[in-house]
Amino acid sequence: MLTKTVKSLGLAMGLFACSLPLYAKNNVVVVATGGTIAGAGASSTNSATYTAAKVPVDALINAVPQVQDLANVRGVQALQIASESITDKELLNLARQVNDLVKKSDVNGIVITHGTDTMEETAFFLNLVVHTDKPIVLVGSMRPSTAMSADGPLNLYSAVALASSESAKGKGVLVMMNDSIFAARDVSKTINIHTNAFASQWGALGTVVEGKPYWFRETPKRHNSSSEFNIESIKSDSLPLVGIVYGSDNMLPQSYLALQQAGAKAIIHAGTGNGSVANYIVPTLNKLQSEGVQIVRSSRVPQGFVLRNAEQPDDKYGWVAAHDLNPQKARILTALALTKTKDAKEIQRMFYEY
Ligand code: ASP
Repeated sequence: MLTKTVKSLGLAMGLFACSLPLYAKNNVVVVATGGTIAGAGASSTNSATYTAAKVPVDALINAVPQVQDLANVRGVQALQIASESITDKELLNLARQVNDLVKKSDVNGIVITHGTDTMEETAFFLNLVVHTDKPIVLVGSMRPSTAMSADGPLNLYSAVALASSESAKGKGVLVMMNDSIFAARDVSKTINIHTNAFASQWGALGTVVEGKPYWFRETPKRHNSSSEFNIESIKSDSLPLVGIVYGSDNMLPQSYLALQQAGAKAIIHAGTGNGSVANYIVPTLNKLQSEGVQIVRSSRVPQGFVLRNAEQPDDKYGWVAAHDLNPQKARILTALALTKTKDAKEIQRMFYEY
Protein backbone atom coordinates (compact mmCIF):
# COMPACT_ATOMS: atom_id res chain seq x y z
CA MET A 1 0.00 0.00 0.00
CA LEU A 2 2.76 2.36 1.13
CA THR A 3 4.89 1.33 -1.83
CA LYS A 4 1.99 2.00 -4.16
CA THR A 5 1.47 5.51 -2.73
CA VAL A 6 5.15 6.30 -2.97
CA LYS A 7 5.18 5.03 -6.53
CA SER A 8 2.22 7.14 -7.64
CA LEU A 9 3.66 10.18 -5.86
CA GLY A 10 6.94 9.63 -7.69
CA LEU A 11 5.08 9.29 -10.98
CA ALA A 12 3.12 12.49 -10.34
CA MET A 13 6.31 14.37 -9.41
CA GLY A 14 8.02 12.98 -12.50
CA LEU A 15 5.19 14.23 -14.72
CA PHE A 16 5.28 17.59 -12.98
CA ALA A 17 9.04 17.87 -13.50
CA CYS A 18 8.65 16.99 -17.17
CA SER A 19 5.92 19.50 -17.92
CA LEU A 20 7.22 22.47 -15.89
CA PRO A 21 10.88 23.52 -15.87
CA LEU A 22 12.13 24.13 -12.32
CA TYR A 23 13.57 27.49 -13.38
CA ALA A 24 13.63 29.56 -16.56
CA LYS A 25 16.95 29.43 -18.35
CA ASN A 26 18.89 32.65 -18.78
CA ASN A 27 19.61 34.05 -22.24
CA VAL A 28 23.25 34.21 -23.24
CA VAL A 29 24.61 35.81 -26.40
CA VAL A 30 27.87 34.46 -27.78
CA VAL A 31 29.69 37.33 -29.52
CA ALA A 32 32.32 35.79 -31.78
CA THR A 33 35.46 37.66 -32.80
CA GLY A 34 37.66 34.89 -34.24
CA GLY A 35 40.89 33.55 -32.75
CA THR A 36 42.07 29.99 -32.36
CA ILE A 37 38.79 28.85 -30.82
CA ALA A 38 37.44 29.45 -34.34
CA GLY A 39 40.61 28.14 -35.95
CA ALA A 40 41.02 25.24 -38.35
CA GLY A 41 44.10 23.15 -39.15
CA ALA A 42 44.90 20.70 -41.95
CA SER A 43 44.69 17.65 -39.69
CA SER A 44 43.76 16.65 -36.13
CA THR A 45 47.44 16.45 -35.18
CA ASN A 46 47.98 20.11 -36.12
CA SER A 47 47.51 21.54 -32.64
CA ALA A 48 49.75 24.57 -33.24
CA THR A 49 49.82 24.99 -37.04
CA TYR A 50 46.46 26.27 -38.28
CA THR A 51 44.58 29.31 -39.49
CA ALA A 52 42.78 31.32 -36.81
CA ALA A 53 39.29 32.83 -37.28
CA LYS A 54 37.73 30.39 -39.76
CA VAL A 55 34.71 28.78 -38.06
CA PRO A 56 31.55 30.91 -37.86
CA VAL A 57 29.73 31.49 -34.57
CA ASP A 58 26.77 29.18 -35.26
CA ALA A 59 29.10 26.28 -36.00
CA LEU A 60 30.99 27.01 -32.76
CA ILE A 61 27.78 26.91 -30.74
CA ASN A 62 26.38 23.86 -32.56
CA ALA A 63 29.60 21.96 -31.85
CA VAL A 64 28.72 22.13 -28.15
CA PRO A 65 24.95 21.43 -28.03
CA GLN A 66 25.21 20.95 -24.24
CA VAL A 67 25.38 24.75 -23.81
CA GLN A 68 21.63 24.86 -24.59
CA ASP A 69 21.03 22.88 -21.34
CA LEU A 70 22.66 25.74 -19.42
CA ALA A 71 21.04 28.71 -21.15
CA ASN A 72 19.22 29.82 -24.27
CA VAL A 73 22.25 30.54 -26.40
CA ARG A 74 22.36 32.54 -29.62
CA GLY A 75 25.33 33.87 -31.58
CA VAL A 76 26.45 37.15 -33.11
CA GLN A 77 29.48 37.38 -35.41
CA ALA A 78 31.14 40.67 -34.43
CA LEU A 79 34.53 40.07 -36.07
CA GLN A 80 36.40 37.17 -37.64
CA ILE A 81 40.08 37.91 -37.04
CA ALA A 82 43.13 36.78 -35.12
CA SER A 83 43.34 38.92 -32.02
CA GLU A 84 46.84 40.26 -32.74
CA SER A 85 45.20 42.23 -35.57
CA ILE A 86 42.74 44.03 -33.30
CA THR A 87 43.21 47.80 -33.23
CA ASP A 88 41.52 50.45 -31.10
CA LYS A 89 38.87 50.76 -33.82
CA GLU A 90 37.75 47.12 -33.38
CA LEU A 91 38.01 47.47 -29.61
CA LEU A 92 35.67 50.47 -29.60
CA ASN A 93 33.23 48.78 -32.01
CA LEU A 94 33.14 45.64 -29.92
CA ALA A 95 32.57 47.60 -26.72
CA ARG A 96 29.66 49.43 -28.37
CA GLN A 97 28.10 46.15 -29.54
CA VAL A 98 28.47 44.58 -26.10
CA ASN A 99 27.09 47.71 -24.47
CA ASP A 100 23.99 47.57 -26.71
CA LEU A 101 23.48 43.88 -25.90
CA VAL A 102 23.73 44.20 -22.11
CA LYS A 103 21.07 46.92 -22.20
CA LYS A 104 18.51 44.49 -23.62
CA SER A 105 16.18 43.05 -21.00
CA ASP A 106 16.17 39.65 -22.72
CA VAL A 107 19.96 39.30 -22.49
CA ASN A 108 21.29 37.97 -19.18
CA GLY A 109 24.93 37.38 -20.01
CA ILE A 110 27.55 37.68 -22.74
CA VAL A 111 30.25 35.29 -23.85
CA ILE A 112 32.91 36.70 -26.17
CA THR A 113 34.93 34.15 -28.11
CA HIS A 114 38.31 35.76 -28.74
CA GLY A 115 41.86 35.01 -29.76
CA THR A 116 44.09 34.47 -26.78
CA ASP A 117 46.92 36.83 -27.86
CA THR A 118 45.18 40.07 -26.89
CA MET A 119 42.27 38.68 -24.88
CA GLU A 120 43.64 40.36 -21.76
CA GLU A 121 43.53 43.79 -23.40
CA THR A 122 39.96 43.41 -24.70
CA ALA A 123 38.79 42.02 -21.35
CA PHE A 124 40.35 44.93 -19.45
CA PHE A 125 38.95 47.50 -21.88
CA LEU A 126 35.40 46.14 -21.53
CA ASN A 127 35.92 45.94 -17.76
CA LEU A 128 36.55 49.69 -17.81
CA VAL A 129 33.96 50.99 -20.28
CA VAL A 130 30.80 48.85 -20.21
CA HIS A 131 28.45 49.82 -17.39
CA THR A 132 26.61 46.67 -16.37
CA ASP A 133 26.40 44.05 -13.65
CA LYS A 134 25.54 41.34 -16.16
CA PRO A 135 28.29 38.78 -16.64
CA ILE A 136 30.65 39.40 -19.57
CA VAL A 137 32.96 36.43 -20.10
CA LEU A 138 35.83 36.18 -22.58
CA VAL A 139 36.87 32.74 -23.73
CA GLY A 140 39.30 31.29 -26.23
CA SER A 141 41.31 28.19 -26.82
CA MET A 142 44.89 27.25 -27.39
CA ARG A 143 44.14 24.44 -29.85
CA PRO A 144 42.11 24.96 -33.03
CA SER A 145 38.65 23.41 -33.29
CA THR A 146 39.99 20.71 -35.64
CA ALA A 147 42.74 19.49 -33.26
CA MET A 148 42.76 16.28 -31.27
CA SER A 149 41.69 17.16 -27.68
CA ALA A 150 40.65 20.67 -28.71
CA ASP A 151 40.19 22.78 -25.59
CA GLY A 152 37.63 25.16 -27.12
CA PRO A 153 34.44 23.12 -26.52
CA LEU A 154 34.86 22.71 -22.75
CA ASN A 155 36.08 26.30 -22.42
CA LEU A 156 32.95 27.48 -24.27
CA TYR A 157 30.69 25.27 -22.14
CA SER A 158 32.25 26.68 -18.95
CA ALA A 159 32.00 30.25 -20.26
CA VAL A 160 28.27 29.83 -20.96
CA ALA A 161 27.86 28.34 -17.48
CA LEU A 162 29.54 31.41 -16.05
CA ALA A 163 27.69 33.96 -18.19
CA SER A 164 24.34 32.40 -17.24
CA SER A 165 25.14 32.23 -13.53
CA GLU A 166 23.65 34.73 -11.07
CA SER A 167 26.84 34.29 -9.04
CA ALA A 168 28.92 35.95 -11.78
CA LYS A 169 26.97 39.23 -11.66
CA GLY A 170 28.91 42.35 -10.66
CA LYS A 171 32.28 40.58 -10.55
CA GLY A 172 33.79 42.54 -13.42
CA VAL A 173 34.63 41.21 -16.85
CA LEU A 174 35.85 37.63 -16.55
CA VAL A 175 38.22 35.45 -18.56
CA MET A 176 37.33 31.75 -18.59
CA MET A 177 40.20 29.52 -19.67
CA ASN A 178 41.27 25.98 -18.78
CA ASP A 179 38.65 25.61 -15.99
CA SER A 180 39.78 28.80 -14.24
CA ILE A 181 37.90 32.09 -13.81
CA PHE A 182 40.15 35.18 -13.95
CA ALA A 183 39.62 38.90 -13.36
CA ALA A 184 40.13 40.97 -16.52
CA ARG A 185 42.49 43.45 -14.82
CA ASP A 186 45.19 41.03 -13.75
CA VAL A 187 44.92 38.03 -16.05
CA SER A 188 47.64 37.59 -18.62
CA LYS A 189 48.68 35.11 -21.29
CA THR A 190 51.82 33.58 -19.82
CA ILE A 191 52.47 30.49 -21.97
CA ASN A 192 52.05 30.49 -25.72
CA ILE A 193 51.91 26.77 -26.44
CA HIS A 194 50.05 24.93 -23.65
CA THR A 195 46.38 24.91 -22.69
CA ASN A 196 47.08 26.39 -19.24
CA ALA A 197 48.07 29.62 -20.97
CA PHE A 198 46.46 32.15 -18.64
CA ALA A 199 47.43 33.16 -15.14
CA SER A 200 47.19 36.02 -12.69
CA GLN A 201 49.91 36.76 -10.19
CA TRP A 202 47.11 37.32 -7.63
CA GLY A 203 45.43 34.01 -8.45
CA ALA A 204 42.23 32.95 -10.16
CA LEU A 205 38.86 34.18 -8.84
CA GLY A 206 37.48 30.68 -8.98
CA THR A 207 36.91 27.65 -11.11
CA VAL A 208 34.12 26.08 -13.17
CA VAL A 209 33.63 22.35 -12.75
CA GLU A 210 30.93 20.41 -14.64
CA GLY A 211 29.14 23.62 -15.56
CA LYS A 212 29.06 25.11 -12.06
CA PRO A 213 31.16 28.09 -10.88
CA TYR A 214 32.97 27.95 -7.52
CA TRP A 215 34.37 31.28 -6.22
CA PHE A 216 37.39 31.87 -3.98
CA ARG A 217 38.23 35.60 -4.19
CA GLU A 218 37.05 38.95 -5.57
CA THR A 219 38.86 41.94 -7.04
CA PRO A 220 38.78 45.10 -4.90
CA LYS A 221 39.37 47.32 -7.96
CA ARG A 222 36.76 49.49 -9.72
CA HIS A 223 35.11 48.00 -12.77
CA ASN A 224 32.02 48.23 -15.01
CA SER A 225 29.21 50.03 -13.17
CA SER A 226 31.64 51.66 -10.75
CA SER A 227 34.04 52.80 -13.49
CA GLU A 228 34.40 56.48 -14.36
CA PHE A 229 34.95 55.52 -18.00
CA ASN A 230 31.98 54.83 -20.20
CA ILE A 231 31.88 53.73 -23.82
CA GLU A 232 28.80 55.93 -24.28
CA SER A 233 30.81 59.08 -23.68
CA ILE A 234 33.54 58.16 -26.19
CA LYS A 235 32.33 59.45 -29.53
CA SER A 236 35.48 58.93 -31.58
CA ASP A 237 36.51 55.83 -33.56
CA SER A 238 40.01 56.02 -32.14
CA LEU A 239 41.63 56.39 -28.72
CA PRO A 240 44.50 58.75 -27.86
CA LEU A 241 47.63 57.10 -29.23
CA VAL A 242 49.73 55.33 -26.61
CA GLY A 243 52.85 53.34 -27.53
CA ILE A 244 55.01 50.89 -25.62
CA VAL A 245 58.82 50.81 -25.57
CA TYR A 246 60.31 47.56 -24.31
CA GLY A 247 63.18 47.90 -21.85
CA SER A 248 66.56 46.19 -22.17
CA ASP A 249 70.16 47.15 -21.90
CA ASN A 250 71.49 49.32 -24.74
CA MET A 251 68.28 51.32 -25.25
CA LEU A 252 67.78 53.89 -28.02
CA PRO A 253 66.25 57.35 -27.34
CA GLN A 254 64.98 57.26 -30.94
CA SER A 255 62.42 54.56 -30.03
CA TYR A 256 60.62 57.07 -27.78
CA LEU A 257 61.06 59.99 -30.16
CA ALA A 258 59.60 57.99 -33.06
CA LEU A 259 56.44 57.40 -31.03
CA GLN A 260 56.16 61.11 -30.29
CA GLN A 261 56.52 61.83 -34.01
CA ALA A 262 53.79 59.30 -34.77
CA GLY A 263 51.49 61.32 -32.50
CA ALA A 264 51.72 59.39 -29.24
CA LYS A 265 50.18 61.23 -26.31
CA ALA A 266 51.75 58.82 -23.81
CA ILE A 267 54.50 56.24 -23.79
CA ILE A 268 54.50 53.11 -21.66
CA HIS A 269 58.06 52.36 -20.66
CA ALA A 270 58.13 48.57 -20.16
CA GLY A 271 61.21 48.90 -18.03
CA THR A 272 63.52 46.38 -16.51
CA GLY A 273 62.98 45.42 -12.85
CA ASN A 274 60.97 48.10 -11.05
CA GLY A 275 60.21 49.89 -14.31
CA SER A 276 63.77 51.18 -14.20
CA VAL A 277 65.00 53.75 -16.74
CA ALA A 278 68.61 53.88 -17.97
CA ASN A 279 70.37 57.08 -16.90
CA TYR A 280 71.05 57.99 -20.55
CA ILE A 281 67.29 57.68 -21.37
CA VAL A 282 66.06 59.88 -18.50
CA PRO A 283 66.69 63.22 -20.34
CA THR A 284 64.69 62.00 -23.37
CA LEU A 285 61.74 61.02 -21.20
CA ASN A 286 61.85 64.34 -19.35
CA LYS A 287 61.95 66.24 -22.63
CA LEU A 288 58.93 64.29 -23.90
CA GLN A 289 57.08 64.88 -20.64
CA SER A 290 57.72 68.62 -20.83
CA GLU A 291 56.29 68.55 -24.38
CA GLY A 292 53.05 66.94 -23.18
CA VAL A 293 53.77 63.23 -23.69
CA GLN A 294 52.87 61.32 -20.51
CA ILE A 295 55.49 58.84 -19.31
CA VAL A 296 54.15 55.72 -17.62
CA ARG A 297 56.63 53.34 -15.99
CA SER A 298 55.54 49.70 -16.21
CA SER A 299 57.77 46.65 -16.07
CA ARG A 300 58.81 43.84 -18.37
CA VAL A 301 58.88 41.59 -15.28
CA PRO A 302 55.59 39.68 -15.24
CA GLN A 303 55.07 39.70 -11.47
CA GLY A 304 55.23 42.24 -8.66
CA PHE A 305 54.43 45.92 -9.16
CA VAL A 306 56.19 49.17 -9.98
CA LEU A 307 56.69 51.12 -6.79
CA ARG A 308 56.26 54.87 -7.23
CA ASN A 309 59.37 56.97 -6.52
CA ALA A 310 61.54 53.89 -6.18
CA GLU A 311 64.41 53.67 -8.70
CA GLN A 312 63.17 56.94 -10.26
CA PRO A 313 61.78 60.15 -8.65
CA ASP A 314 58.31 60.05 -10.28
CA ASP A 315 57.04 63.00 -8.21
CA LYS A 316 59.94 65.18 -9.36
CA TYR A 317 59.65 64.20 -13.04
CA GLY A 318 55.83 64.09 -13.21
CA TRP A 319 55.81 60.47 -14.37
CA VAL A 320 53.21 57.80 -13.64
CA ALA A 321 53.89 54.36 -12.11
CA ALA A 322 51.76 51.62 -13.69
CA HIS A 323 51.46 49.81 -10.35
CA ASP A 324 50.72 46.12 -11.07
CA LEU A 325 49.35 46.64 -14.58
CA ASN A 326 51.53 45.06 -17.24
CA PRO A 327 52.57 47.24 -20.21
CA GLN A 328 49.70 46.15 -22.48
CA LYS A 329 47.11 46.79 -19.76
CA ALA A 330 48.82 50.09 -18.92
CA ARG A 331 48.38 51.10 -22.57
CA ILE A 332 44.62 50.53 -22.34
CA LEU A 333 44.16 52.42 -19.08
CA THR A 334 46.39 55.31 -20.17
CA ALA A 335 44.50 55.70 -23.47
CA LEU A 336 41.21 55.88 -21.57
CA ALA A 337 42.68 58.17 -18.93
CA LEU A 338 43.74 60.58 -21.69
CA THR A 339 40.13 60.88 -22.85
CA LYS A 340 39.50 62.59 -19.49
CA THR A 341 42.65 64.33 -18.30
CA LYS A 342 46.21 65.43 -19.08
CA ASP A 343 47.14 65.56 -15.41
CA ALA A 344 49.75 62.93 -14.44
CA LYS A 345 48.51 62.93 -10.82
CA GLU A 346 45.00 62.09 -11.97
CA ILE A 347 46.34 59.33 -14.21
CA GLN A 348 48.30 57.96 -11.24
CA ARG A 349 45.10 57.88 -9.16
CA MET A 350 43.45 55.85 -11.92
CA PHE A 351 46.30 53.33 -11.90
CA TYR A 352 45.74 52.77 -8.18
CA GLU A 353 41.96 52.50 -8.47
CA TYR A 354 41.61 50.18 -11.47
N1 ASP B 1 46.91 34.33 -32.66
C1 ASP B 1 45.70 33.76 -32.11
C2 ASP B 1 44.77 34.90 -31.71
O1 ASP B 1 45.04 35.57 -30.75
C3 ASP B 1 46.04 32.89 -30.96
C4 ASP B 1 44.90 32.30 -30.18
O2 ASP B 1 43.75 32.60 -30.36
O3 ASP B 1 45.19 31.46 -29.31
O4 ASP B 1 43.80 35.12 -32.37
